[in-house]
Parts: sequence; C-alpha cells; structure tokens
Amino acid sequence: AGRPVNAAPMLEVIDVARRFSVTPAVRGVSLTVWPGEVTCLLGPSGCGKSTTLRMIAGIEHLDSGEIRVAGQRVADPRHEVPPERRPVGMVFQDLALFPHMTVAENVGFGLPRTRGSAEQVAHLLGRVGLLHHADRYPHQLSGGEQQRVALIRALATRPRVMLLDEPFSSLDQRLRVEMRELAADLLREAGAAVVLVTHDPDEAMMMADRVAIMWEGRIRQEGTPLELYRQPRDLTVAGFLSELNIFEGRVADGRVETPAGPVSAPGFQDGAAIRAVFRPEHLTLLRTDHTCRSVGRGSVARVLRVRNLGRESFIEAGLPDVETRLRCAAPGCCALVPGDHVELGHSPGTAMVFATP
Ligand code: ATP
Repeated sequence: AGRPVNAAPMLEVIDVARRFSVTPAVRGVSLTVWPGEVTCLLGPSGCGKSTTLRMIAGIEHLDSGEIRVAGQRVADPRHEVPPERRPVGMVFQDLALFPHMTVAENVGFGLPRTRGSAEQVAHLLGRVGLLHHADRYPHQLSGGEQQRVALIRALATRPRVMLLDEPFSSLDQRLRVEMRELAADLLREAGAAVVLVTHDPDEAMMMADRVAIMWEGRIRQEGTPLELYRQPRDLTVAGFLSELNIFEGRVADGRVETPAGPVSAPGFQDGAAIRAVFRPEHLTLLRTDHTCRSVGRGSVARVLRVRNLGRESFIEAGLPDVETRLRCAAPGCCALVPGDHVELGHSPGTAMVFATP
C-alpha cells in the first residue's frame, strides 16, 4: 500500500533511547507510521524491539527522544502521558484476558456503557466469528479464539496506534497463518497505525507494509518487505529474511566468478574482495550427464539431502572444496536424490554483492 499523500503521520518515534544500568537496549530509534499502515519491527532476541514498543505504550521510560501520536507529544524524558491516557491499544504474547469476565465483557471493557457499545461489541465479535461465544469465559476458548478476543478487545476502543508484540507466536502453524490474515484485515479497516514486533521473517513479509530490521538497539534498514528482500544494505539484513549462500571472490572486469557462474559487480573496482550472495530460491541445480562433468559454466556439486514438502522442495548440496552446505529451494517436487551430481547456476539478476569487510 502506498503512503497517503495528504495524510499526516499517526505515530512518530523520534530518536528514542533507553538504557538499563550499563546495557543500552535502544540506541536511537526513529519510526514513522501512517494511519492504516503496518510496520513490523523484526530482529533477533534482545535487539530492543519490545523495549521500543513499551516506550510507545507508555510502560517504559525514555532516556532521550520523543514520541508523538497524531501530532501530539505523548512522551519525552521530562514528560510522559500515562499509558491509560494514550490512544494506544496493545496485544502482547500473554494475552491477559480478564479470566472472571465473559468474552463480551472482555471486549467491552474499555468502552463507556451505552447501548452503542453493546452493538459495537457484537459487531466485532461477529467480525471474528465469535458471536456465539459471547457469554463464555476465556478458559472455555481455544488459544486461537482467545487470540481473536484479545485483538478485538484492543481494537474496541478505536485506538489510533495499535501495538502487537509477537501476538501469534503461541499458535500452531495453520492458525497462525489464519490469524495473520484476519488481523491484517481488521487492523487496516480500523485505520490505526500498527507496530508489530516479530522475530519471524515470514510474518513480517506477510503482514507488513513496511519492515524495520532492528539490530543491537538500532534500526539497520527500513523499507517495504520487497525492498528489504531484494536490496538489503548488508549481509545482516539479507540474512534476516532467508538463509543465504555466500561465495567470496575478487572482482575482475566488473564481474566475479562464483561456483554458480559469473555475477556482475557494478560499482566495485577490479580487484575488490566481495561476497556474492544468493537466496536459496535463486540457485539452480541442473542434473549433469553421467560423467559428472559440468555441461555449462557452473561448478558441479553433489546432492546431500532433499526435503520434498510437496509445494516446495529444499535441497542441500556440497561442493568438493567448500565446507558449507549450499541451500537451494525449488517450487514443487524435486526429482533429485542424495548422491546426484548437479551443475550449479543462478537465476539472472538475483545475486546480491557486498564488500567483504
Ligand atoms: P525478544 O525478541 O527476546 O523479546 P527484544 O528485541 O524484544 O527481545 P528487549 O526485550 O527490548 O529485546 O530487550 C533489549 C535488551 O534490554 C536486552 O538485552 C534485555 O536483556 C534488556 N532489558 C529489557 N528490559 C530490561 C529491564 N527491565 N531491566 C534490565 N534489562 C532489560
């Protein structure tokens, strides 16, 4: 989704930082989120994602920087609007539904008691297919149902900013995919600015309008999911979104030779040490003739392992002189078996080239 031209940003996080005793958890993070837009904070454990979210929510102090919602300052180091007075909704991993309240009471908890509120609760329950469970208690619901209740409870007060911290991580794979789609629809309809914390790249790629990769308390790169997938600025960002196959080499005549064939290295001087990087789906494996000689220009590798998932297959292969295994992915079933010899190649234009540090 493109950013609206005339609309103002809903959430502005401006250079915020937070240190715990000696550990800087967040070292200057800036984020801008427009209404109806989902931004994913993606990064390894301990990189500061949750702390950033907690500062936006108002349950963590900030040492420096500023946070604005709909143009109003809600936090800086000297003044913090308390969490209950911020137009911010939250769904965390531990759902914290009120156990002694029914589903409908949970959803209506933050609403003024008017006839309209009952209708709104019913509308939201209908939207997630739980109207018939309105009078149940949380312990009478499945994990996925509780998740849906937590989501609409947070949406019921029509927050301007919605914060989700690994909200689907306790669900099984199929439910997780369903919930992501339902949540993405509901959140866009609600028009809130959404920040979703996850360490799951699939979740980020699937749900986000924009992804911010966090690393050691900073945002390493921010952009649309495809920008980050296709043009990561460094190996760290690249490696966050999928497994990688990395070949070291030196540039000659504007190109570098790799076991998967030559790759052009625009912008690099001849002689420069570089790494050519391929995502698994960008390597191709072509069965060689029975003499095991290469028929083209790539190196010959030996298939070590094949995992056929039906819609997709993953193949591990080894080169004689390289220790690391190559990881390849191909659509559909794969007829290769361990021991097969294959010639390595790559889909044109897919290689990423980085300077060797
Ligand atoms: P995860 O994916 O594991 O939840 P995260 O990216 O959300 O990780 P944070 O929870 O923001 O990471 O933590 C960032 C750093 O700050 C970590 O090193 C963590 O140990 C530290 N930290 C977080 N909260 C506190 C606290 N209350 N006191 C001391 N250190 C803390």
